[in-house]
Amino acid sequence: MKQNDMWGAAAESKHECPQFPGTGVSLSFRHSKLPQESPAWHLEIQREATESDLEENHHLEAVGDMIWSTVLEVSHCPYCGQGLPIPPGERPADFGRFAHIDASGWRSR
Ligand SMILES: [Zn+2]
Repeated sequence: MKQNDMWGAAAESKHECPQFPGTGVSLSFRHSKLPQESPAWHLEIQREATESDLEENHHLEAVGDMIWSTVLEVSHCPYCGQGLPIPPGERPADFGRFAHIDASGWRSR
């Protein structure tokens, strides 16, 4: 991989992995919304509603609605094991923060 191309244009960069288990998974390098924090690779997993989810959960309205989402800081792709490139000087002191968003109860009828 040519590192210069990767960091030349966009501030955000993505790891498109052939090992991802279908849809709902993305791995991207981006700057944190918190100004003090270093940018990091974020693995984001989203669970979208299927038809059987709609039958079981009346808070959901349509197929494709997000049920939950988890974002996790990583240094390697957990699917293929590839180390993820970090620009010089931007290596975070630590990583491993995560957030879980549960949207299954947000909507009411
Ligand atoms: Zn990968």
